[in-house]
Amino acid sequence: MLIVMEQQASQESIEGVIAAIEARGLEARPIPGGERIAIGVLKNKGPVDAAAFLGLKGVKDVIPVTRPYKLVSREFQPEDTRIQIGAITIGSKELTIMAGPCAIESEAQALTIAQHVKQAGAQMFRGGAFKPRTSPYSFQGLGEDGLKILAKVRAETGMPVVTEVMDLATFDLVEEYADMIQIGTRNMQNFSLLRRAGHASKPVLLKRGMAATIDEWLMAAEYILEGGNSAVILCERGVRTFVHHSRNTLDLSAVPYVRNESHLPIIIDPSHAAGRRDQVIPLARAAVAVGAHGLMVEVHHEPDKALSDGAQSLYPEQFGMLCRKAFAISDLMHTNDASIRRLAAVTSSSV
Ligand code: PEP
Ligand code: MN
Repeated sequence: MLIVMEQQASQESIEGVIAAIEARGLEARPIPGGERIAIGVLKNKGPVDAAAFLGLKGVKDVIPVTRPYKLVSREFQPEDTRIQIGAITIGSKELTIMAGPCAIESEAQALTIAQHVKQAGAQMFRGGAFKPRTSPYSFQGLGEDGLKILAKVRAETGMPVVTEVMDLATFDLVEEYADMIQIGTRNMQNFSLLRRAGHASKPVLLKRGMAATIDEWLMAAEYILEGGNSAVILCERGVRTFVHHSRNTLDLSAVPYVRNESHLPIIIDPSHAAGRRDQVIPLARAAVAVGAHGLMVEVHHEPDKALSDGAQSLYPEQFGMLCRKAFAISDLMHTNDASIRRLAAVTSSSV
């Protein structure tokens, strides 16, 4: 349930409502928002009696929350969440492109790729230091040395870095180095990791579990918000289906659905969805057109020699093409009808 206060409600009446919520053994959670003052009611086992709050001083309205997730829902917060990482805002009309290798392999490899992706238009650098690999015999990542290389990439290029955390034991370390902490598909329902992410000092990129419904995914995000960290970005990266023509099936309809249900930003990772290079650019174009706030793309200057996910890694020139198309589509989507017609006429031959 959400209690909406009068615009001019005094601090005293807000505190009165919080006390009334807590007196019922429930948790009161003031919801940030530009336009209105609202207080969320959490931890209720069943329906809460609206009448108990409607008569309180300063209360304008009581809105029942119909979704199982609360803090992540649009019912709780109608305005889009925008997440600031340095000069980048994720969740705005500005498309955010994160790119880099699947895994950090060496300083030279990371810096080479970072220069390429920055030049092409990426605003953030990605790269795994702790890698969740299907086989225990595959390259597992450089660990802390990989994190140090990421710090060097940030220092040399100015790009903020995103990297995956795999377990509680290395959480503090990853949190120290990363500008954004990634929780991968295999850990989407690792509840102790989600709880730790709930009091992390950095934004969290939460990938969708490869067999998770959107409700399960949003409930996983709810764990992080419930812990006090509201800087969560969702990432659709394809789900497991019966097909063999791609590694996973990119669920494009997740974007409009999630944007309707939640105020959190959502990005798409076309690389892990496709699993093969030839599908990455078309999927990235579709991702932008369907309304994703950003993209996360794997790029390698020598994909044949990559220690992981070489087959889906774009060559730098291909990534340049992806950025040009993605930014053009994004611009097209955020211009008014008249300029869309003009732009479409100009770009129809090249997009
Ligand atoms: C990754 O982005 O490096 C990764 C392992 O992705 P996912 O968790 O989506 O498989
Ligand atoms: Mn990968």
